[in-house]
Amino acid sequence: MTVKKALYLCFWVIIIPVFSQDYTQIKNRFDTYLNYHGSLNSLVDIALDKIVFYNAHKQTEFTLLKNDWEKFAFLLKKLTEDSLEKIYENKALLNKYKTPTNNGSKKSIHELKIVIDPGHISGNMDMARIEQKYLHFTKQNHAALKQDSVDIAEGKLTFETASILKKMLEEKGATVSLSRKENSTSFGYTYEEWLKTYKKKTLDSLLSIKKITAQKHKQLIGANPTVLFSSFFKDYELQHRAAVINAFAPDLTVIIHYNVDEKNVAWKKPSDKNFCMAFIPACLTADNLKTIEGKINLLRLLLCSDIDESEKISGLVVNQLSKQLNIPIANKTDASYLSEHCLGSPTKGVYSRNLALCRMVKSPLVYGECLYQDCENEYYALTQNTETVYGIKTNKRVALAAQSFYNAILEYYSK
Ligand SMILES: [Zn+2]
Repeated sequence: MTVKKALYLCFWVIIIPVFSQDYTQIKNRFDTYLNYHGSLNSLVDIALDKIVFYNAHKQTEFTLLKNDWEKFAFLLKKLTEDSLEKIYENKALLNKYKTPTNNGSKKSIHELKIVIDPGHISGNMDMARIEQKYLHFTKQNHAALKQDSVDIAEGKLTFETASILKKMLEEKGATVSLSRKENSTSFGYTYEEWLKTYKKKTLDSLLSIKKITAQKHKQLIGANPTVLFSSFFKDYELQHRAAVINAFAPDLTVIIHYNVDEKNVAWKKPSDKNFCMAFIPACLTADNLKTIEGKINLLRLLLCSDIDESEKISGLVVNQLSKQLNIPIANKTDASYLSEHCLGSPTKGVYSRNLALCRMVKSPLVYGECLYQDCENEYYALTQNTETVYGIKTNKRVALAAQSFYNAILEYYSK
């Protein structure tokens, strides 16, 4: 971005309250949400008058004085990653920008740009097996099964939910985009197509820029599709998914998932548990600050109100899921990943978790886990194709989940 173009940004009027640079709020975001078990203690200092980033030798690397907090928060939402990294490396560049005006008013629904991310990829059982996001119940494993077998692909449920929600929000005038197509990756093609056409090219190019070693390259080239998916493609695709979402510059990102009972491994028979919950960004560790990009991302989460807004909308989504689907909201002790890898927020059912998408998406977000697919009260209903909503064939539970997200989004933007 040229300096001239950047200066032009100074005259923009900001219409969302994305900036919140009060010391108490920043310190609270750091202590309560971001600094996971103190892992950032030696790398970041939040003082009344400045934020300081240190390198591994405890030498000051970057200082942001309080006077610049508001300006930098604005730039974090407006400048390219490259321009932000240049400021981090040479803070004098910050003087080229003026502090913006913030009128703090919220957008209304018809002005919104929303990305909906249907979790995972699969639109059929073959792909669901490759990405290990499926249920397969048989009478052999569970005699009380109402039919010979039950097969559920999570990526199919998320795609149906996202497609219905998209239509509902578009009817209200919002501009809505999905992060992927049906049974497809965020690259716009299937995993199978990637294997055939892009696998070698991708791995060769990563080897040439030394992102992977020759040994890793050899191992990945020879891996079967399932192993290659879990050891490489899953994370590689998620990074691209975040880039696709960020390129749309959304006001809100809605990430849709359907959960399972973690203790019911390998999901061959039903469980009696069922909960809804939502995740928001946070719980960073030193690993997340190894690159300048990671440090810029922490500055965004500290200075902008993405965490606060994510928590508010996630709270509304969880309440709606619980009400519409009639299932309880998960407490911290209801799953080991909640008690071991998450920090609870003051909002019931909303947990800070260092998930790749939560960390990389640069907008307020809700990462909703609608229900437990393997619950004995759910699995049968999830396989029924009795409903047609906006031309989309689905079941009652998915239709209710879509309704829950919709109600919560409307509630959030009407406040
Ligand atoms: Zn999922």
